[in-house]
Amino acid sequence: MQVHVADHPLISHKLTKLRDERTDSPTFRRLADELVTLLAYEATRDVRVSPVDVKTPVAVAKGVQLTDPRPLVVPILRAGLGMLEGMQRLLPTAEVGFLGMVRNEETLEAVTYAERLPEDLTGRQCYVLDPMLATGGSLATAIDFLVKRGANHITAITLLAAPEGVARMEKELEGIDIPVNLVTAGLDEKLNELGYIVPGLGDAGDRLYGVVD
Ligand code: URA
Repeated sequence: MQVHVADHPLISHKLTKLRDERTDSPTFRRLADELVTLLAYEATRDVRVSPVDVKTPVAVAKGVQLTDPRPLVVPILRAGLGMLEGMQRLLPTAEVGFLGMVRNEETLEAVTYAERLPEDLTGRQCYVLDPMLATGGSLATAIDFLVKRGANHITAITLLAAPEGVARMEKELEGIDIPVNLVTAGLDEKLNELGYIVPGLGDAGDRLYGVVD
């Protein structure tokens, strides 16, 4: 897995505000949205395009257009939903599929409770959105889903990642022979005993949408 920590000063600036415990939900949502658009720019560096000619008012120019089939964007519910608009701003014609996952707070493993993805993803490029790569369970499960349906290029976009999560993904992806990339705004120090990223930003879903018991 190729890991890219985006080190643009604007990304670091917005991430710092996002981490701040005093940042309220509306500001958190706006910052997450802006951050994802910046990360999406980095993450789509190898989006597939085909050559096309375009007629300008002056002459014919050589250009490119997104290749069909279009990329598939997959937010992991619930927190990944807060990243969807920011991604669609750069890739408005991408298709969107959904995976609902929740973390079992005792085992810290991901449990899938909803899935709405095309049955056949043969040859598709997929962008998976999940703000926090903590233990790596949800992302590894999501990537496994997509690979089993035929996706042949996967990029995960996260706001923050923990080294433990990156290591687990690398281990789980060992047998997978398609390119998998991770683009993240920050790689933090560690996970704590509750599975939270340290220093992190807390529970991303709660900070986006409020606490649900
Ligand atoms: N999920 C979150 O929302 N935050 C963490 O720190 C870890 C997992």
